[in-house]
Amino acid sequence: MKITEIEAIYLKIPDLDANRCDGTQDTLLIRIHTDAGITGVGEVDSVPLVAKAAVEAPASHSIATGLRSLLIGENPMEVERLWQKMYNGTIYFGRSGPAVHAISGIDMALWDIIGQHVGIPVSEAMGGTYRKRLKAYASSLMPDTISEAAALAERYAAQGYKAMKFGWGPIGRNARFDEEQIRVIRETVGPDIDVMIDGGLAWDLKGALRMAEVYEKYGVFWLEEPLHPDNLSGYRELSGRTGLYIAGGEQESGCMAFRRLLDEGHLDIIQPDLGRCGGLTEGRRIAQLARERHKKVVPHAFKTGVLVAASTHFAASIPDGFLIEHTVSASPLARDLVQEPIEFKDGYVHVPDRPGLGITVNEAIIEQYRVR
Ligand code: MG
Repeated sequence: MKITEIEAIYLKIPDLDANRCDGTQDTLLIRIHTDAGITGVGEVDSVPLVAKAAVEAPASHSIATGLRSLLIGENPMEVERLWQKMYNGTIYFGRSGPAVHAISGIDMALWDIIGQHVGIPVSEAMGGTYRKRLKAYASSLMPDTISEAAALAERYAAQGYKAMKFGWGPIGRNARFDEEQIRVIRETVGPDIDVMIDGGLAWDLKGALRMAEVYEKYGVFWLEEPLHPDNLSGYRELSGRTGLYIAGGEQESGCMAFRRLLDEGHLDIIQPDLGRCGGLTEGRRIAQLARERHKKVVPHAFKTGVLVAASTHFAASIPDGFLIEHTVSASPLARDLVQEPIEFKDGYVHVPDRPGLGITVNEAIIEQYRVR
């Protein structure tokens, strides 16, 4: 089997608001076609047009090459070798950042092809399905008012979610307001639902230490990205001085960045985004780093159903996977791009047993939101 074409398709909703930290407003979809008639699908979480350029740029020289030109004519079954070929072909402009983001979407599509060709789900193709269902947490932006926060918490609990996360938005502007938000959320959902807070880089170390005490009081399961991702010494000190799990890593790409988060930042939970970290192939290496250090991995996913499917297969195929992120965004890209969303029931998603990622993308949605 040979790769015959790679498409990088930019999708965007018309009323995108760049002031919101909401990645479901646009995306870069990857489609890889083969001479066997199999098409694989992947998704990149980056600035879509920057990652698209990393795919489409013609070759400049041996270590500065667009990804498409590296893969045409290659055998998609050799995913590990192709990953190294892409990594080495982009040394000048890659090794992290947009080139690795683009590699992520291509790698995802290659695993989709492998699964379809062999006739097994991606989780099985990656080495085995440890679990058939996974807890999924509702992932929402923190609303601007206390009453909206209570209403959302109530809605997610009613939908069956056993875990929910609120992040970004007003968090970090006013400590008393932040405390009131979490107090009301906890009061609304009761003691048995996991609540997580995504600080959205809101604080410095002292601010985060103060808020960690507050969140601990309300039984928050993890505090995510309270500090700037470069502040590794801050993360280390915070982690050493609080009983809360400290989570982060969605910003990072490549194994080495995650090694730093674990070894220098002492994070408890790392959150590789499979559309950004280097794909399923690199994600598996990142999960191994966490496993060696007895730390947890929960994939970050705030895009479309393509990434949700990849995250589900990933978390099912690593020994310690236990939870995935479920964006509750109302964006049509998040809701409608994939025709058969991963089944969600009573707080859990069921790992699809269809070949590959087990999804098909809706052509009408692509045509409606495609930017040429
Ligand atoms: Mg986050």
